[in-house]
Amino acid sequence: MKILVVGGGGREHALAWKLRQSSAVAKIWCAPGNGGIAQVAECVPADPSRVAELAELAVRLGADLTVVGPEQPLAMGIADEFARRGRRLVGPQRQAAQLEGSKIFAKQFLARHEIPTARVYGMCDSAAEAYKTIAAIDGPVVLKADGLCAGKGVLVTAVPDEARSFIARVMQKREFGDGGARLLIEEALPGQELSYIVLTDGQHFVSLVPTRDHKRVFDGDQGPNTGGMGAYSTDGIIPPELEDRILQTIVRPTLRGLSQDGQVYQGFLYFGLMLTPSGPSVLEFNCRLGDPETQAIVARMDFDLAEALAATAEGTLNRVRVAWRPGASVCVVMASRGYPGNYEAGCEITGLDEAAAIPGAAVFHAGTRLEGHTYYTHSGRVLGATAAAPSLDAARQTAYRAVEKIRFSGAHYRTDIATSPERAPVAGD
Ligand code: AMP
Repeated sequence: MKILVVGGGGREHALAWKLRQSSAVAKIWCAPGNGGIAQVAECVPADPSRVAELAELAVRLGADLTVVGPEQPLAMGIADEFARRGRRLVGPQRQAAQLEGSKIFAKQFLARHEIPTARVYGMCDSAAEAYKTIAAIDGPVVLKADGLCAGKGVLVTAVPDEARSFIARVMQKREFGDGGARLLIEEALPGQELSYIVLTDGQHFVSLVPTRDHKRVFDGDQGPNTGGMGAYSTDGIIPPELEDRILQTIVRPTLRGLSQDGQVYQGFLYFGLMLTPSGPSVLEFNCRLGDPETQAIVARMDFDLAEALAATAEGTLNRVRVAWRPGASVCVVMASRGYPGNYEAGCEITGLDEAAAIPGAAVFHAGTRLEGHTYYTHSGRVLGATAAAPSLDAARQTAYRAVEKIRFSGAHYRTDIATSPERAPVAGD
């Protein structure tokens, strides 16, 4: 099998690394890839937003299967483009990708199929309507820009002034462009979050190990939100009864709902859940794998990912056996100084070989550049030191041992990944 992976971050490095271990895989390309991905795949220059060019690339390369990492090409219809040309791809078509691309579409889907989610206060088309909606609410609220906003379009707050200034920035100043044309306002749910991801072929599905991620930049869940500073998975992260409930009340109704809506969803579907005192509730969908959750998930995979992905594109996922290494995994992200704001780049990275030599550890590159034999930092999130082990403590220790071997100027990482459950603090709590 010859596989093309679309994307160029830590998630795609983890996927390519796992695919490389499959005896069924003869060749892996990654478009565009990055310095670290070049160790396991041939990187080909590409712009993930140019879906027709990516389809042409897959044809030219003779890829049997294409796997899409980021949301942007999915939202732009890469799966439709491949389907038109009869090429196999793992990832939903444009219409279903709206589950991530539009918060309002997702909310309407959840209501239509009676899937638990936060109560809606308003779906606003204008700033005036949004101001009026929040004026009538006492207590914490959640404001969500409708469209894709690179993870910055959500505010949870109990302070009316903060809500008003968010409305002004999103809907009036259009800081996120058209993503802020509409605003969803909903109830703030209490509880602990969980990432639950399934792989589905449109008819059958398999669950991946559940994970938690850490979004805030500093220890103790302080500072601004980021793309993710770390993630972990552990046996017992949730009791089996709760997982059954998630499957019964959320996952199966969602997959049934997609088929009732005429969608054949083939790909990863990510459920961002809040585990509230009255049961699990959907905060968001992603139409792809999360980053850095993928790194933690892949570290525990004890099955052939290439076979599972091929079966997804063929509709035969029921024939695939999925097994997991018992225990736990941890991914600690190393970021550039200044991230998630303006950050430094171009700093030399040392210690990668020593880190990779630690048994049980793997270092996935999120944003590096290779020049000669030297790696340099190339984006905000740089590396994800990842480890799997029989216990969460052991996995955490191994991941941090790897982190300590790696040096670059201004390197920043959290020291409390997988020690404290993440909970977004609500101002005024
Ligand atoms: P979303 O992109 O919808 O997942 O929102 C980003 C983050 O905002 C989530 O991971 C939660 O931490 C928080 N959030 C979103 N919706 C809610 C809600 N209804 N109640 C509490 N927190 C929320």
